[in-house]
Amino acid sequence: MLVTITAKIRIRPTSEQQALLDATLDAYRQACNHVAQYVQKSHDTVQKNVHQANYAMLRSDYRLPSQMACSVTKTVLAKYKALKTTGVNKPTGKWTRPDFRKPQLDLCYNRDYTLRKNVFSVNTLQGRIKVAYFDTTMEQYLNGTHKLGTAKLVSKHGKYFLHIPVTIDVAELKDTNVTHVVGIDRGINFLTATYDSHGKSGFVSGKKIKSKRAHYKNLRKRLQKKGTASARRRLKKIGNRENRWMQDINHCIAKALVTNNPQGTMFVLEDLTGIRNATEKVRVRDRYVMVSWAHYDLEQKLTYKAQLHGQKVVKVDPAYTSQQCPKCGHTERANRNKRLHLFTCKNCHYRSNDDRVAAMNLYRKGINMLVPSDTVETEHDSVSQGAVNRP
Ligand SMILES: [Zn+2]
Repeated sequence: MLVTITAKIRIRPTSEQQALLDATLDAYRQACNHVAQYVQKSHDTVQKNVHQANYAMLRSDYRLPSQMACSVTKTVLAKYKALKTTGVNKPTGKWTRPDFRKPQLDLCYNRDYTLRKNVFSVNTLQGRIKVAYFDTTMEQYLNGTHKLGTAKLVSKHGKYFLHIPVTIDVAELKDTNVTHVVGIDRGINFLTATYDSHGKSGFVSGKKIKSKRAHYKNLRKRLQKKGTASARRRLKKIGNRENRWMQDINHCIAKALVTNNPQGTMFVLEDLTGIRNATEKVRVRDRYVMVSWAHYDLEQKLTYKAQLHGQKVVKVDPAYTSQQCPKCGHTERANRNKRLHLFTCKNCHYRSNDDRVAAMNLYRKGINMLVPSDTVETEHDSVSQGAVNRP
C-alpha cells in the first residue's frame, strides 16, 4: 500500500543564494501569471497545447530552465482545475483567472532538485546551487527506497521552506493481525472521546476550541457588517488562520492517538459521509460546516499516520451510536440526555457520559467487523429474525 506524506523542511540559503532563489521564484510566479492570461483568453486547458504555445516564450522572456518552463504549464492548469472543482469556475460559467501572488516554485525531482543529507541541490535561473538544510526527520526518507515527488519551494518573511511529497510503501494491517481496537467519537464538547480494548476511556476537551471558535465567529460578524474591501480581505485571512489552527490541533490529536496505541491497532470512526449524525450534534448552521470539515481533516490525518505506524482506520455506520446501551443493547432516543451530556439506559439503568457511550459503541462495532462474517450473521439472525425462525 502506498502512502504519500508531505515532508516540510526549512532550507538555509546564504544571502547570495537567497538573491538567486528570489529571482527564480519571482520569474516562475510571473511566468505563471503570463500563462494564466493565455489560458484565460484561449479557454484552452489541454496541457500539450498550452505547453506548445508558451514554451519558447517562457524560455526566452523569463529565462526559465527547460523543466521549469514545463512545470509552469502544469502549475497553471492545476490551479484552473482546482477552481473548477471548487465551483469558482463552473464548466459553462465565467472564468476567473488565478492570480499567482505569492512567491512559489514547483520543482521536479532529479531534474530541478535533488536531496542529500543536509544538502538541497536546486536549479535556478543561473544554474544549480547547493543549499544547506538541517532536518533529521528527513533522513529516513533518503535511503533510496522512497519516491520523492514534485516539491514546492515557498518563501515567507525571508524564510524558505520546501514541501516534498514522499511516497512510502507500507504493509497494510490485515484484520487477522489486529491486536487492539479503539473506538473514537468525534464531537464538540469533547473533540474526541475514546474507548479501547483495555476498557480505557480518553477524552480531549473541546472547551478551548469552542471559545476560540466563538472569538473567530464574532470577528467574522463584525467584518461582515463592515463590508469594505479591506474587511473582506481580512475575513479571508482570518478564515485561513482558523483553518491552519484547527489543522494543527488535529495533527496533535492524531499524533497522540497513533503514538499512544500499539502497532496492530484498529481505530474505529463513524462514517460521516451521510451528514445526519454531524447535524445532530450541532445546531448553528455555519458552525456545522466548520465542524464537519474539521472532522474530515482529523480522519485524513489519522488515516495516513496510522498506516505509517502499522495501524489502520475503519469507518462504521453511525446509526444509533449515541442511543444504544453498550451494556444491554437497548436502543432508545431517550437514553441520551444531550443537555446534561448524560446517557442513562431506560432498560438496565447503565449511566455514563454520552460521548463515552458513543465511543464504546464504535469500539463494539469495530470488534464485530473482526468477527468472521458467518458468526455475525448467525448472531444477527437470532436477534432480528429469531421469532420467525423458531418453530
Ligand atoms: Zn442498558
